[in-house]
Amino acid sequence: MTGGALHCEGVPLSRIAEAVGTPAYIYSTATLTRHLGVVQQAFANTPTLVCYSVKACSTLAVLKLFAKGGAGFDIVSVGELERVRRVGGDLRKVVFAGVGKTEDEMVAAIRAGILMFNVESAEELEALDRVGQRLGVQAPFALRVNPDVDAKTHRYIATGLKTSKFGVPVGEAVALYAKSKRMKGLVARGLDCHIGSQLTDTRPVRQAMTLVGDVYKTLRAKGFPLTHLDVGGGLGVTYSTETPPGVADYAKAVLEPLHGLGATLVLEPGRVLVANAGVLLTRVLYRKKTPAKHFVIVDAGMNDLLRPALYEAHHEIAPVVPRKGKRATVDVVGPVCESSDVLGHSRSMSPLAQGDLLAVLTAGAYGMSMSSSYNSRPRPPEVLVDGETFRVVRVRETVTDLMRGETP
Ligand SMILES: *Cc1c(COP(=O)(O)O)cnc(C)c1O
Repeated sequence: MTGGALHCEGVPLSRIAEAVGTPAYIYSTATLTRHLGVVQQAFANTPTLVCYSVKACSTLAVLKLFAKGGAGFDIVSVGELERVRRVGGDLRKVVFAGVGKTEDEMVAAIRAGILMFNVESAEELEALDRVGQRLGVQAPFALRVNPDVDAKTHRYIATGLKTSKFGVPVGEAVALYAKSKRMKGLVARGLDCHIGSQLTDTRPVRQAMTLVGDVYKTLRAKGFPLTHLDVGGGLGVTYSTETPPGVADYAKAVLEPLHGLGATLVLEPGRVLVANAGVLLTRVLYRKKTPAKHFVIVDAGMNDLLRPALYEAHHEIAPVVPRKGKRATVDVVGPVCESSDVLGHSRSMSPLAQGDLLAVLTAGAYGMSMSSSYNSRPRPPEVLVDGETFRVVRVRETVTDLMRGETP
């Protein structure tokens, strides 16, 4: 904020809007770099690999910054693997998660020489063994265990409950490792868990760490050559009134229950690295008053930022150049033909006119990476700011792009 007008680092957001149009995603280099450093620093006294969770924001320019900062990567598809390769990321620092990896994806990741597969079912373990044997290698794996703790987060982003599709029940883990000993295409390298996203409480983290720490010790005692304990990601950020733990408190909650374990830790932060580093810039198209509501219709919709429609997520929305005058309660809505296309419900906003710019805040995580072209709306461009300068790191999609590959 300078002189009341919103900036990203040294650049007024209005200048970026003039240059690239709206809607557009804007990211701050300084914030991205600082966040990675803070996480690395908090774990500096323990052997730790910070693997940025690519799905939070998979834009090449962002991945490149993190690769330069020494991060590894947590991927969930071959598409993400290729993104990491493209930016020169260290493939030996890649972990591969997801309940539905295909054998083709396993082949590609083995050939790439990744650190380990985080395996999520007994049948997947068998598939990885087959692929390993076919390629004549031992594929390194960690079993993702489901610690059955309540992460106290939205049900769509909790992943560690026993009703969740993720991981294997913690009680079945040891037997599966034992079974893996007879599988020639595998080698046990680690143990993995991830209890959910947007965590705002350290208690479930401590609980889960205590549990997986015990399983890790049991497995080591049984002679499995484990070297890595992957503790997942999930640290929350402030979208409105949440008070997530700071990185230092999160680190304590992870490290204390694991004291003396001797494992190299793998962290998979996504949201906490990128959410606050990005905004979605949008312009007011129309205002409309009905007897029930006062709507502000903007040019960004749920196809650009899905989180409010998908998770009932809250994003603060701020005018880029605030006007003086009486505030009004408005619904900020997008142009998409769905009633769920609401970026902000019942927001108290200073006066807005047609053409005014708004910034949807904390939009760096699960923003562009979840965007679609629903309603045949080209996806927005992405801009990376660095100090006083900015560059377009992904151009706006065109209508021609939208129809590529189609035959009428
Ligand atoms: C999505 C995901 C993450 C990252 O979660 P954040 O909440 O963005 O930190 C980490 N690990 C796994 C396995 C995931 O699926």
